Amino acid sequence: MAKISINIATGTIQKEELIVGIDLGTTNSLVAIIHPESKQAIALKDIDNTTLVPSILHFSENGHVTVGREAKSFLETDPTNTIYSVKRLMGKSYNDIRTNQHSLSYKIIDDDTERLVKIQVGDTFYSPIELSSTILHELKNRAEHVLKMSISKCVITVPAYFNDAQRQATRDAGKLAGLEVLRIINEPTAASLAYGIGLSSAETKTIAVYDLGGGTFDVSILKITDGIFDVLSTNGDTFLGGDDFDKVVGQHFITQLGLTDEELTADKRLVQIIRLKAEEAKKQLTLNELFESTILETPVSITRAEFTKLISPLIDKTISCCQKALNDSQLAKDDIDVVVMVGGSTRTPFVKQRVSEFFGKPINDSVNPDEVVALGAAIQADILAGNNKDLLLLDITPLSLGIETMGGLMDVLIPRNSKIPGKAGRQYSTQKDGQSGIKVAVYQGERDLVSDNRKLAEFNLTGIPAMPAGLPKVDIQFMINADGILQVKASELRSGVAQTIEVKPQYGLSDAEVETMLMDSITNAKSDIQIRALIEAKTEAEQMIQLTENFLHKHQQYITDDEKQATLTGIQELQTSINDNDKNAIMSLTEALNTITSPYAERVMDIAVSEALKGKGV
Ligand code: ADP
Ligand code: MG
Repeated sequence: MAKISINIATGTIQKEELIVGIDLGTTNSLVAIIHPESKQAIALKDIDNTTLVPSILHFSENGHVTVGREAKSFLETDPTNTIYSVKRLMGKSYNDIRTNQHSLSYKIIDDDTERLVKIQVGDTFYSPIELSSTILHELKNRAEHVLKMSISKCVITVPAYFNDAQRQATRDAGKLAGLEVLRIINEPTAASLAYGIGLSSAETKTIAVYDLGGGTFDVSILKITDGIFDVLSTNGDTFLGGDDFDKVVGQHFITQLGLTDEELTADKRLVQIIRLKAEEAKKQLTLNELFESTILETPVSITRAEFTKLISPLIDKTISCCQKALNDSQLAKDDIDVVVMVGGSTRTPFVKQRVSEFFGKPINDSVNPDEVVALGAAIQADILAGNNKDLLLLDITPLSLGIETMGGLMDVLIPRNSKIPGKAGRQYSTQKDGQSGIKVAVYQGERDLVSDNRKLAEFNLTGIPAMPAGLPKVDIQFMINADGILQVKASELRSGVAQTIEVKPQYGLSDAEVETMLMDSITNAKSDIQIRALIEAKTEAEQMIQLTENFLHKHQQYITDDEKQATLTGIQELQTSINDNDKNAIMSLTEALNTITSPYAERVMDIAVSEALKGKGV
C-alpha cells in the first residue's frame, strides 16, 4: 500500500515524496525542506512571511484550538487556557518537574508523583504528547498549504540531553499528528549538518554547539568520525534564555518609570506592555547602540552598554556550563575545531563575543540561528530519502522492539530506525507480594497494543525470592548485534537470578509486510494513543483503589467513620468510571480519591511513625 502525492499546483503526480525537517522548540517551532531545484535547505515561510511558529496553544471556551502567534496573544489575557513550553514536560513525571512548576501558569496534575504529567484545561486532561502533536499537526498543515502537497514523513530534532522517554514521547507526538517520524536527531547534530560539517565521510572534527534559546540553554561537545556523530558531553541550564534577558531589561524600565510592586500587581496589562517593550529593546540593541521609546507616554531608554552589563551575569553562567562540558568530554579548548551558534538569543553581539573569547577562536554564526536546527533536520531528511548518494547510511532497525507491560501495552526499548549494533535497557518490578516469576514477552511493531504487533519470543524469569510488590528490580536488556540478532536478558538485580534468549527480529518479514505494519501504525495512531491513555488511567486507578483498601483495613482504628464513608464512596465512584471506560472521569475521580485520603493518610503515618519510635511497632 504505497501512498501517492498529487501536486495540486501543477496537477502532476509526485513520485518522490518530500521528507521535511522539524525543529520542535520550547519557544518556537519551524519546518524546513531541501528545495527540489536549488538543492539548498530552506525554512518554510508562513502567510505572514515568518518562518517561526511560537510553540503555544490556546483553548477557547468552545473547544477551539489555535496554535502559534495567535495563541501567543492569549498568554496574559487567558493564562490558564494558554499552554506554552510543553517541551519541558515531554516524558516527565510530576516528580521531575516539581521544583519548576511554579513557572507555568496553567494547571499540571499531580495526583501521583511517579506518573507522567497531565495538563488540565477546563475539564479535559491532555498529555504533553497530545499537546506537542497538536503543534506538529499545525506545522504539517501549514507546510502542506505552502508546498501544495501532502506531507507524511519527517525528521524531528530533540536536545542532545533528552532521555529515552523524552525521545519516545516526541516520536509518539509525531505519530499522533499523522507523521511518520523517520528519525529523531539531536539538535546540535542538526546544527552541525546545516554548516556542512559531517557531510563528507572522511572527516574527523570536534565541535562545540552553543544553543541559547528563549527559555533554555545547552552546550554540547560532539565528535564526528566517518559521518557518525558522537555526543561527548552536554551541559546547560533548562531555565536560562532570552526570556531572562527580557526580564532584566523590563526591570530596568520599571526603575525608570518609578513603578512600585503594588502598582505592578494591580495592573497585569502594564506588566505585559513592559515585557513586550523589553523584548523589542533587546532585539533592537542587537543592531543599535541605543533604544528609546515610551511606555504609556513616559519615555524609557537603554543603551547597549547598560544592556550588556545587565545580562553579563547570565552569560557568565552559560560560560561556566561550557567549561563543565569541556571538562566532562576530557578535552581542552584547543581541541575544539569548530564552534557553532544556535538559538535566537545568540544574535546578541555580547553573547557571540563572550563565546568566541572563551573558546579562543572565531565562531560560526553565518546561518540564521533560529533556523539552523530545522535546516539541518531537512538535510538529514534528504539523506534518508536517498537523495544524497555520497553518504552511506548506517544499518538501522526497520521496526521497533519492545516488551509487553501492564494491560497489554507495548513498551518500546529500541525504537525503529535505531542504529545497529545497539542496546537498550529498562527496569521493571513485580505487581504482587511474593511474586516469584515475571513473564517477558518480546514484540516487534509500531502499535501501542502488543496484540497488534508481532510476537517474537516469550520466556519466564523464575526464582525471584519472595519480596513485597514493587521491591524486586527486574532489569531487561536488549542487545542487537551487527547481524541484526536480538539478545534479550532479564535479571533480578537484588537476587542475581537471570535468563537470556536470542531472536532474529526481522525473520520472515518481507519489505511489504514491514511497510504495511508502518502504515497501520499511522492510520491507527489516534485510537492507539487513546486506548493507551485509557489503559494507563485504568491501571493507575485500580492500583489506587487497592492501595486505599489495604490502607483502610490496616489502619482502621485511626480513621474516623466519616473519613471511611467518604473513602468508600470515592472508591465506588472510581470503580464505576473504570467499568464505564471513561478516561476523563477516571482521572478526575482518581485525583478526587487522593484528595479524600491524603489528609488522614498523613495523620495516620505520623501516628505510625511515633508508635514505632516508642517501640510498639506498627
Ligand atoms: P527555542 O529554541 O527555545 O524555541 P529560539 O531559538 O527560537 O528558541 O529563540 C527564541 C529567543 O530568541 C527569544 O527569547 C527571542 O526574544 C530571542 N531573539 C530573537 N531575535 C533576537 C535578536 N535579534 N536579538 C536577541 N534575541 C533575539
Ligand atoms: Mg531551539
